[in-house]
Order: sequence, then C-alpha cells, then structure tokens
Amino acid sequence: MNYVSTRNKNVKISSADAIIKGLSEDGGLFVPQTIPAVSETEISSMINSDYKTRAKLILSKFLTDYSEDELESCINGAYTDQKFGGSNPAPVKKLDDNNFVLELWHGPTCAFKDMALQIMPRLLTTALKKQNSDKTVVILVATSGDTGKAALEGFCDVEGTKILVFYPAHGVSEVQKKQMTSQSGSNTGVMGVLGNFDDCQSGVKRIFSDEKAVKRLEKGGFVFSSANSINWGRLVPQVVYYFSAYADLVKSADIKTGDKLDFIVPTGNFGDILAGYIAKQMGLPVGKLVCASNKNNVLTDFIKTGTYNKNRDFFTTMSPSMDILISSNLERLLFIMSGYDDLKVSGYMDQLNKTGKYTVDPEILSKIQTDFIAGYADEQQTLAAIGDAYNRFNYVIDPHTAVGYCVSAGYQSGNKKVILSTASPYKFPKSVIKGLGGSIQAENEFKLFEILNKKTGVEIPPSLASLENAQVRFDGKCSKEDMTEKVYEFLNV
Ligand SMILES: *Cc1c(COP(=O)(O)O)cnc(C)c1O
Repeated sequence: MNYVSTRNKNVKISSADAIIKGLSEDGGLFVPQTIPAVSETEISSMINSDYKTRAKLILSKFLTDYSEDELESCINGAYTDQKFGGSNPAPVKKLDDNNFVLELWHGPTCAFKDMALQIMPRLLTTALKKQNSDKTVVILVATSGDTGKAALEGFCDVEGTKILVFYPAHGVSEVQKKQMTSQSGSNTGVMGVLGNFDDCQSGVKRIFSDEKAVKRLEKGGFVFSSANSINWGRLVPQVVYYFSAYADLVKSADIKTGDKLDFIVPTGNFGDILAGYIAKQMGLPVGKLVCASNKNNVLTDFIKTGTYNKNRDFFTTMSPSMDILISSNLERLLFIMSGYDDLKVSGYMDQLNKTGKYTVDPEILSKIQTDFIAGYADEQQTLAAIGDAYNRFNYVIDPHTAVGYCVSAGYQSGNKKVILSTASPYKFPKSVIKGLGGSIQAENEFKLFEILNKKTGVEIPPSLASLENAQVRFDGKCSKEDMTEKVYEFLNV
C-alpha cells in the first residue's frame, strides 16, 4: 500500500518512507491511498487475543512493506508488561452499564502519547534498516512539557538513535521538569532554554533547515528526523486501541458483536480522534465520534458550522495538551472526506495560512456531521466534571479526561459510550485535588501526590512516586542562540 500527500496526490511513497519523511515536501501529510477493511471475522478473532496480536492485525494492513517479523519485533519491544504495568496497555474501565473509560495512560510517562511514542521509534529505525542506512538518527524535540518526556522514553536506548529535547527552562511544571532532567539512557539529552516554548520550537526548526548544521552532522554519520505528531508512524498505532476497546467490551459481554459504540475524545491536534475515524472506516462498528475541546474551542465551532477560524484569543487552561488553535491532523480528515481532493485541501490550507480561516463545502460539512459531534468544556465545567466523576462513580480523572467526561454527559445517542482517558490524574494533581474540593497547600508539587493518594486511595504511578528523589542528570541551560552549538556538543561533531 502506498501513501499520498494531502496536497499532491502524485506524491506516492511506501509506509517506511512516509515514517522516515514525516511531512511531504509540499507541506502535506501522508495518507494511505485506500483505507483497508477489517472483516467481522477478524474483529471476532480479536476478542480472545491479546493487545499485541490485535496490534499486529491492524498495523500489518497499513505497513505493508514491513515483514511480519519486523512488525512483531516492533510491537513486542514497545508494549511490554513492564512498561505498561500489565498485559493490556489500554484497559477499559466500566462506570455503569452505558458508560466506559478507555485508560490510555499506563505507559512510562503516564500520558496517552506513550501509546504511539513507544512504538514509533522502532518503526522508524526498522524503516531506516530497510533502506540499508547506517546513519544514526538524531531526533530533536521542542516541548512544552508532555511530548518531550514521552519521546525521551520512546527513544531511550533505541539502537541507531540519539534524542535531544529542548524545553523552556521556566515554562514547565516541577513534575514535568524532573521527569525530563532525570531521564536515563545513553543516547538521551535534555536542555533548558532561556525562553518560552515558541523560542524552543523556532530554534529547532532553524537547526533542521540550517544547511551548515545538516552538512556537519552528515559528516559525523548523523541524519535529522522528528517525532512530531503529524508523522504517520505516530497516528497508526492509535487505531489499534479503538479495536481493542471494542473487543474487550464484547469479551466482557457489555456489548454484542455488531453493536455500535460512541467514542468521546479529548482533542487537541486531532490525531487521537482521527485514528478513531480511520477505525470506523475500516469497519469497526462506531456510532459517533465526539470531539471534546477545552476553552480553546476552535474545533467545536468548525464541526458545528463548517468554518475554521483561528483568529481568536488563545487560553492557557488546566488541560494544556489541548491548548491548540491549529489542529494539524484535521487536514487528513478533509482530504479523505473530500474524496482525496488535493487541490481543494491545498486551497483550504492556503487560506488558513493567509487569513487564518476557511469554510468547507456544504457536502464536506454534511459528511463530517454524519460521523462527528462536537462540544467543549470551560475551566469551571472541567473542575466540576472531576468532582462529579468521583462522587458518582468513585473514579478519579485528570483535567483532559474531564473535558471528555463533561461533553459526554451533554448528549445521548442511544449507543453505549467510551470516553478516552488521556492522562493519569497524578500528572495534574493540583487541578484534580481542586476538582475534588481538597486543599492544595503543599511545599512542592511532589507532596501533592501524597495528598491525592490519601484522599482517593488511587495508587501513585511508580514512575512518578520515585521522581522527587530521582537523580538529576541534565541541568544544562542555554540561550536560544546557542541551541545549534548544544546539538554539536551533544553529538561530539
Ligand atoms: C496530546 C494530548 C491530547 C490531545 O490529543 P490529540 O491527538 O493532539 O488530539 C489530549 N490529552 C492529553 C493528556 C494529551 O497529552
């Protein structure tokens, strides 16, 4: 199966190439030429298989240029019992007969990005081997907090790779900072930048396009790549857990094969929910996909009206991983829904670039509204949802999941509902304790773990519990002008 660019259908490349390149040269994203089907028999076969087997079934349909052995080795290396705290990395919790939660945060960094970032580095290095490349891949990441740690864990000690993360030295939480600066691994590096997230991001972009830097690295046997969320290698692993959740609910007799499920997805860059749409296109019985946004509700307006307009205030919320005004993966949805119309999509993206907005054709809007519902929760509603989930179901949720919970409560379709839970409550203890009505007076963020644990009895994830006393390995800071020099130092070139 080949992949085409959303902005030029004549660009056709293999999945391995799509994963190496990340983004097409025309600025478009890679989309499979056709969406493969999953038969009822195959769905039934998943009921009694484990997550790794389910992953192999789905991934083999998209990554057709990878051998069975290659896929198996990537999957087995990624979803180990040890890293995900058990044999099912994405377990489903039952709230009541009609409401379920798909927990996607049992990985090493306690957020759902582990589901993709644990396997993507393996897919990438396998792709490079297939091309007989003997170069070492250098991953540069600019992070506002969560992605950096998930990428560090994913690439930690992966052969043939080195990873350097830049974070705003005074712009991340105590927990996030310690998670990164105490990172293990012989191929990892972390650097604080005296600036904000935008400074980190433009610095990294500048290095990528700095010919002198690229040459100097090439001479040393290195090549740049990115672990960015628009890479197909990060999207495709997310399709798996929609099937897995469905199979688990059939297995537990909460639904029968063929019953439709609605999925409620806390959304930022539109990657997670797009994976759900692809699962539906493949044949999974999905009713509605519910796009849940926080106060940055550009997607809510888009799905309701057909006009995407990023010209609005940007809010910093308690669900920071959803504070986004340009949802990159929406471009893939528009491409598929317009019947792979690359000219139309290029036109929309051009308008977005120039004027900050575009309006899709009525036919496209009507297709979107057949599959998607949208809603949002403001800060007050998000806090209230944390309290409500605890009072009604004795279940503790993080602020991102709470946005989904709130939007879910606001509609009924008749189908049973699965809310995707994207982070452990311990990743955002301050907001969670506040939502539960508790006191957040503590000498540092780490002490909040104990307060939350005493209040709810929910176990503190071991990787966070050990954080306060973890050894700091990377205390380096640099100015934004010095970032390139720091890359040379890191690589010894
Ligand atoms: C990244 C992230 C999201 C948003 O996912 P998208 O794929 O960008 O829509 C939601 N919740 C958490 C905790 C995240 O880290």
